[in-house]
Amino acid sequence: MSAGVHGGRAKCLQRLIRLEMPVPLTVALSFDAVRDIAKGRMPDMAAILAPFGYAPLLSVRPSSLDPDWGGPGAILNIGMSDARHEDLTQTAGERAATSLYLRFVQTYAVQVARLDPEPFDLPPEPTREALKAMLQAYEAETDEPFPQDPATQLAEVLRSMARAWDGTTARLLRQAKGAPADAGLGLVVQAMALGVGRGESGSGVIQFVDAKTGEPCIAGRYLGQSQGREALRDKRDAIPLTRAEGSPSLEELAPFALRELLAHGQMGRERLREEMQIEFTLENGRLRILDAVRVPRSPRAAVRIAVALAEDGVIPREEAVLRVEPGSLSSLLHRQVDPEAPRDRIVAGIAASPGAASGRIVLTAADAQAFAARGEPCILVRRETTPEDIRGMHAASAVLTVRGGITSHAAVIGRGLGLPCVVGASGLEIDRRRRTVTAPGGRVLHEGDIITVDGTSGEVLAGEARTLDAAIDGAFRTLLDWADEFRDIGVRANADTPQDAAIARGFAAEGIGLCRTEHMFFEGERIGMMREMIFAEAPGARRAVLDRLLPMQRADFAALFRIMAGKPVCIRLFDPPLHEFLPSDREALRDLAEGLSLPLSDVEQRVEALREYNPMLGLRGVRLGITVPEIYEMQARAIFEAAVEAGRDGDPVVPEVMIPLVSARREVEIVKARVDALASAVRAETGVEFAYRLGVMVETPRAALRAEEIAQHAAFLSFGTNDLTQMTYGLSRDDAGRFLGTYVEQGVYEEDPFHTLDLDGVGELLRMGAERGRLGRPDVTLSICGEHAGTRRAIEFCRLQKFHYVSCSPYRVPIARLSAAQLAL
Ligand code: PEP
Ligand code: MG
Repeated sequence: MSAGVHGGRAKCLQRLIRLEMPVPLTVALSFDAVRDIAKGRMPDMAAILAPFGYAPLLSVRPSSLDPDWGGPGAILNIGMSDARHEDLTQTAGERAATSLYLRFVQTYAVQVARLDPEPFDLPPEPTREALKAMLQAYEAETDEPFPQDPATQLAEVLRSMARAWDGTTARLLRQAKGAPADAGLGLVVQAMALGVGRGESGSGVIQFVDAKTGEPCIAGRYLGQSQGREALRDKRDAIPLTRAEGSPSLEELAPFALRELLAHGQMGRERLREEMQIEFTLENGRLRILDAVRVPRSPRAAVRIAVALAEDGVIPREEAVLRVEPGSLSSLLHRQVDPEAPRDRIVAGIAASPGAASGRIVLTAADAQAFAARGEPCILVRRETTPEDIRGMHAASAVLTVRGGITSHAAVIGRGLGLPCVVGASGLEIDRRRRTVTAPGGRVLHEGDIITVDGTSGEVLAGEARTLDAAIDGAFRTLLDWADEFRDIGVRANADTPQDAAIARGFAAEGIGLCRTEHMFFEGERIGMMREMIFAEAPGARRAVLDRLLPMQRADFAALFRIMAGKPVCIRLFDPPLHEFLPSDREALRDLAEGLSLPLSDVEQRVEALREYNPMLGLRGVRLGITVPEIYEMQARAIFEAAVEAGRDGDPVVPEVMIPLVSARREVEIVKARVDALASAVRAETGVEFAYRLGVMVETPRAALRAEEIAQHAAFLSFGTNDLTQMTYGLSRDDAGRFLGTYVEQGVYEEDPFHTLDLDGVGELLRMGAERGRLGRPDVTLSICGEHAGTRRAIEFCRLQKFHYVSCSPYRVPIARLSAAQLAL
């Protein structure tokens, strides 16, 4: 019997039978047999019934390939008839017998004969009169007496279940869960274990781990005189399995049965190699096992269970690594909204940085800082964030923006900080004057109102939603250590600050693959200095500001080198989309005028002169490095001095210096000559020899096309797929979020290319760039560092192209490590 022919339930039951568990007699009908039934070609009913002997009572349950695909509900007590009712009255008592018959007539009338449910409501007391009335109701509705022949009943049950599976609604529902259009249904016919009787009788469910944490425990419920999964539904009368205060338990009622269950559970775990939830019945003290399914589990429990099974030698480590879905780790790394908590949804946007946080709405960065100073959690709600919001973002518990996509400022910073973030919540209107936020349906929220940002789902909820803690525990670390044994591509982190680096190190990143130095200038007084430097006209004035920035940069880099303790750190030279540094309000303009000792009007004019129509394609990256060389020179000096400093008291440092936004070989030659000269100068000044590696970011299509000549001057090439996607599609990474939804809905693009690496177009450039880069320098190090880098798709691509590593945001490092291992296994 295979799950692909008879379904998962049939397959599992067969294994339980082989393990000699007390499973009632079972006959499985294959997918093909059920397809025939749906078309009206009935199997030989006598042959199906023969093994069950005279006047059997039977159940039929669905058995699809994947239990998540749903299916028709189980039907129990098939074979109940007037005659069987009399027999059962003798053996199990009148009340039990009448109750079973009533339940069967009800199920049959509603689920099989598809009658209006109302006349078939179960009576409060299972009396003979009530039974008579229900049988009469059936006859009145169908003009036929209730069928008394088990073969007729079973045939009708099989037919109705086969057709239900074929129905359009059921089809759509399961296809939405990933079932193929031609998914089959098997049916399992099983002798009933009654669960009612004069001795200890009832039914229950048992499992041996906690579904939320995966910790070992005996969990489940038992309900006397019941059948199926009633114990789980009846919260009032069902009792615990083991001794508990203030309640009777199965352990007291039937200690022997519990012991037997524990033994079966242990055997099931070892032989089925899985934590199972077992459905059982007691019939006059005799235990029967009816069914076993994989314990439903939270992501956290999935990790704990996989690791425990491997540690106990039940499954190999490889399999434990394969059993955990990498994306699910994200819910362990962050606080999450409890999936069982009620959700009062206000708006939804793009889930830009996972995790959940609640707090009071604030509309400005300054207010966020004021709240944080009072120890009050707050949520920063902005149209979009700018560098001036950085401090506010640090202070807030979560960020919500109306505009922006997955690579917008708020999203990138949010992910770096591990801050829950929802961006692109379009339809939300912020009124800063009235201090309100209006949701798409017209619901008005005020500053100070509490909301919850669920950065995992992209939803924003009213009030403080119940949350679950992060769970980076021993099992999590063990699983990832095992993953590292199997993976064959490196994983580094994109980290800009010492905090990021510490997080990356904690998640065992093998180095920093991208330190975006411009983010270092978004903080504190530095943004003001940075502006002064950008707006200074004379080289002398610029150099004065740079002299003040140098020690700060040196300290930044030294801290990164120390935290990464000899692991590679790749520092990208300044790549400011200049508009992110332009002062956006009068106050900032006034500060700048003061700093530069210039009249406000002069500053305004200069800001205007620097404003670009298309800043993402403007004076950015190496273009600034070429036109204002002092900035890169300051940075190179800071990097080398920091390397010397950190190398003195720690592991030797071989810094990596990366040039952004290159499009021509000559850009690299010019910058390389200057950086080399600075390295020589620092060596001479300090008397310390050190090595360094200079590399290029490939993020313009031309750089990919000209990779051969570029690689001749670059020890490494790192593909920046954010800009490369932007420029390959000609899509603004900051604005495209507004219409990409429509594009995806209409199937113009299969997915948002900023989310999901476009293997056809952008991928073609990556392949070409890698190939040509290797022609120019056979040992060139290749990597990818755009936001795609942590995704399974990008990792799979990079492995195939023999890239050396991927570099992703620190919180994605564990996910990338697990994905890479799974791809290698
Ligand atoms: C990129 O463009 O892919 C990249 C990593 O750089 P940034 O996102 O800083 O432009
Ligand atoms: Mg870029």
